[in-house]
Amino acid sequence: MKKLVALLVLAMAARVVAQNTIAIRAGGVVDPAKGSVARNQIILVEKGKIKEIGANIRIPDGASTIDLSSEWLSPGLIDAHVHLTLTEVTGGNAPFESFYLKEGTTYRGLRGLRNAQDLLRAGFTAVRELGNDGDYATEDVRRAIQAGMFDGPTILTSGKIIAPFGGQSTAIPPEQGPFWRYEYIDADTPEEMRKAVRQNIYYGVDVIKLVADNSPFHYSLEEIKAAVDEAHHAGRTVAVHVYGGEAADNVIEGGVDSLEHGFFLTDEQLQKMKRKGIFLVGTDTPRSQLDVEGTSGGIFPPPEVLAPQIIDRLRRAYRIGVKMAFGTDTVIEIRNKTRPDLMLDYLPVWREAGIPAPEILKCMTSNAAELMHINQQRGSLAPGMAADVIAMPSNPMEDIESLRKINFVMKDGKVIRRP
Ligand SMILES: [Zn+2]
Repeated sequence: MKKLVALLVLAMAARVVAQNTIAIRAGGVVDPAKGSVARNQIILVEKGKIKEIGANIRIPDGASTIDLSSEWLSPGLIDAHVHLTLTEVTGGNAPFESFYLKEGTTYRGLRGLRNAQDLLRAGFTAVRELGNDGDYATEDVRRAIQAGMFDGPTILTSGKIIAPFGGQSTAIPPEQGPFWRYEYIDADTPEEMRKAVRQNIYYGVDVIKLVADNSPFHYSLEEIKAAVDEAHHAGRTVAVHVYGGEAADNVIEGGVDSLEHGFFLTDEQLQKMKRKGIFLVGTDTPRSQLDVEGTSGGIFPPPEVLAPQIIDRLRRAYRIGVKMAFGTDTVIEIRNKTRPDLMLDYLPVWREAGIPAPEILKCMTSNAAELMHINQQRGSLAPGMAADVIAMPSNPMEDIESLRKINFVMKDGKVIRRP
């Protein structure tokens, strides 16, 4: 009798476990890290993670099934350069400072939450936020998502951007005071750099974001090294906004984790990045958006000159073999386009640079996860990994534009949308 009861208990326990299991029938599954595809797969999801994946997997009794047998599944997408809480109002010649001067941190946080939700529904299951979020607004957006109040992507934060005096503003009369400190921390010596890095880490950031060359003056090698030393000792990465020239030399030599933008990097600089394992997050803006954005602050040549330069730099970076992660830096709004639409409008730039679809998808998944140090949990579909899964009707390894047709999103095992 005792034995029978024990067996019954065991059987019930097995039943309970299976009831918490989701079985996805997949027509095809892509593995961007390996560049391979597998047909007719079963993915078992339990407690937000992938338990098993393969062709000959038995679906346990009581599991709920999701039929995606005419769909292609991929790990969720990652954008490694976003500004969730910032919108640059286009049309007219408003200076960059005006985009944050009239917005409080709460408002910024609410916009960030809306953008986070939109991005997740479009298939972006993780993002790296690179600052311009008022007084650490994204920390609270992430906190609310992690607390389960809202659905949203995994967010890495960077807090206030650390820059030489003046942040990304220029020539504001002294009577106005250092108003940019709402968005930036001034750091103009190695000691100030260390203090700024510590301040950001204190408030919870994962990534240190520096702006190296937005002004006629730029960061020295010693200043970059101080930031890298302080950040790496605390287990944080360093991402640096830099376009090229001597500033980029200092940033590369200083051993940062990623260069952001890098529109004017030379082959020599790209080769050095490859040798040192530094990522390029190229934020390779399409011509259509450069036209809308204008050429901010007179730093850039006009769009008709800059757009081909960006494509050429992307092509050279790919040929040289620099590690790359997809990042868009999208902050503008265009009528009848969502922010995810604008982000996916970067894909034609990658195609024009001659980069094959599997490589683009890799930069949008496993490569970005590696840069963000989350590749043990996300960026590929394998047992033990988080169930961040997207699906679409055609194979993105054959046509990267398939990503515009994503109709299924699962985040940490929770279905966010389905066909
Ligand atoms: Zn940016």
